[in-house]
Amino acid sequence: AETTTPEAQIAQGGASGVKNFIAVASGKGGVGKSTVAANLAVALAETGARVGLLDIDVYGPSVPVMFGIPIDEKPRVNEERKIIPLVRYGVKLLSMGFLVDPNNAVVWRGPMASSAVKQFVNDAVWGELDYLILDLPPGTGDIQLTLVQTVPVTGTVIVSTPQEVALADARKGIKMFEKTGVPVLGIVENMAYFTPPDLPDRKYYLFGQAGAQKLAAEMEVPLLAEIPLEQATREAGDLGAPVTVREPDSVAAGVFRELAGRV
Ligand code: ADP
Ligand code: MG
Repeated sequence: AETTTPEAQIAQGGASGVKNFIAVASGKGGVGKSTVAANLAVALAETGARVGLLDIDVYGPSVPVMFGIPIDEKPRVNEERKIIPLVRYGVKLLSMGFLVDPNNAVVWRGPMASSAVKQFVNDAVWGELDYLILDLPPGTGDIQLTLVQTVPVTGTVIVSTPQEVALADARKGIKMFEKTGVPVLGIVENMAYFTPPDLPDRKYYLFGQAGAQKLAAEMEVPLLAEIPLEQATREAGDLGAPVTVREPDSVAAGVFRELAGRV
């Protein structure tokens, strides 16, 4: 039989050339996981690291919109029928959103979603990467479990807003990862405060104050970043380029670059 070198295996597909798998997770939806995952990915790529971003939120994929990928642009397969990620802003991208019609609701059951996750990890040409960022769906269900069973997750970043309902779910998420033996790198507090453009030295704590600090202390994990609620961040997400690329001088972009230095 033919022997396959590690280089050949990497060229054929799969994630064996990935050094670090960083999962971006949360208990609750809508707290900014995808925003954090996308900005972390581009901020790492800006440092010269080789980066991929895999969006496995089957029920609410965000990468196509956040990276401005037209509906008719889909990843191709190579001769070995391995999926070739798209590339934007120096980041290799795959998203569940590439598989489904964006105008139709996904009605997959857990096992189907789980097998799609496995395919995107094992049957895609990721090549050699320093980081593969995984944008997870909210919660602690099938997909999260499949993921930790499919890839050796290096660490997970938990995203929460300062709100009690979000923190309670974040706590559950942290416990799930700890139970499955995945290291929790820390918590990112998103929408931590709001500074009105005409009052640049004010901070308004719309969703509560210091909640994530308390959770971080309680769970004995670091607080990795506090990201402000910022119009530029929301607009960038909707306009097809993460804020770190689109508004590199914004407060959020600075915080994302610091975060990239901490993972
Ligand atoms: P999740 O992936 O957790 O569901 P998203 O990253 O999709 O959350 O964020 C939900 C919405 O909130 C998006 O429209 C996004 O642009 C917006 N958003 C996230 N973080 C911020 C922020 N720091 N400032 C302003 N808008 C934000
Ligand atoms: Mg999301």
